[in-house]
Amino acid sequence: MKKTLVDPRDLLRFDFGEAHPFKVHRLGLFFDLCQYYRLVERPDVDLVPLREATEEEAVAFHSKGYLEALRLASSGMWVPNQFAHGLGTTDNPIFPDVYEWGMLIAGGSIDGADALLRGSSRAFNPAGGLHHAMPSRASGFCHINDGVLAIERLRRAGKRVVYVDIDAHHGDGVQYAFYRTRDVLTISIHQTGYTIFPGTGFEEDIGVGDGRGYSINIPLLPGAGDRAYDQAFEELILPAIELYAPDVVVTQLGTDALIGDLLANLRMSLHGFERAVERFRALGLPWLALGGGGYDVGNVVRAWAVAWSVMLDEKLPDEIPALFLAQAAAHGVSLSQLRGPRDVPPTSERVLEALGETIRKVRESAFPILADSQPRS
Ligand SMILES: [Zn+2]
Repeated sequence: MKKTLVDPRDLLRFDFGEAHPFKVHRLGLFFDLCQYYRLVERPDVDLVPLREATEEEAVAFHSKGYLEALRLASSGMWVPNQFAHGLGTTDNPIFPDVYEWGMLIAGGSIDGADALLRGSSRAFNPAGGLHHAMPSRASGFCHINDGVLAIERLRRAGKRVVYVDIDAHHGDGVQYAFYRTRDVLTISIHQTGYTIFPGTGFEEDIGVGDGRGYSINIPLLPGAGDRAYDQAFEELILPAIELYAPDVVVTQLGTDALIGDLLANLRMSLHGFERAVERFRALGLPWLALGGGGYDVGNVVRAWAVAWSVMLDEKLPDEIPALFLAQAAAHGVSLSQLRGPRDVPPTSERVLEALGETIRKVRESAFPILADSQPRS
């Protein structure tokens, strides 16, 4: 079966600015590393270019007013209400063609969803996963919520979708989009909102109205580590997915939960990340993977290469190609960074105790509803 990779290279002309933690070159390095590992030019891989989402596609989530403001900002025009739209802040700077940036990424994720609808078994848009964008507001380095738009495409095709977000930050924008519906089960595992942006995603938040029981949040204490992830997957994430019985899985593979990240403190190892991705593969469902956060460029590059190799049913060798090393070094990324974190401290009892309590609460509140949920006929 074909696998689809959305080619991120068209994005390398955009720049959030020197001081901003979002480094666009991580996408170029990821793509090059995959090429060195021969994970791109293969008969089973469809490499598809990015294309701008249309306004008609974007209004499935975003307001026309916001899109207009983003378009004005993009062309350097003064936008009177820019701060109300979250634009022009330190987090969400206005840079040239920022509208095109957001819409290209969104088009890539929508096309990834389309590839699944046309029979591709797996699709990856490494530039996607911009999960904080809200209908009328940019947030957390995210301008257009490509994940929501891709899920909308799948939902409108009658698919029952589970969205799992392993980024260190709560997937608030995606949760918001589907908080009142049972058509999409959203699951986010992240560093607790008491300690990190965006300050939301607590275990009590399980959806409202028709969507009650169809949002799951697993906030982790800082320093969580691999064991916390393993336990959360085994006792909560995988059983919830099984109860829901989706047709398609969409995953946000932010790598900022890895140890060494600049903006989060969850101490996941590269092996822990790989296990998470392997668990998604083991679901045996059509699978759209999106990128996401990640502010240690070495971690991002290596972890997404691992993710793409898992999607291709390959095992990445330990060696990093020498030519690639020189290229990475030019961007200040060292061999040790690319190898990924080795010595990850064990998960503390305090973390596991709090997680055990979260798991118990969510199973009690959401699982009876999920167990009762029937796929739409
Ligand atoms: Zn993040």
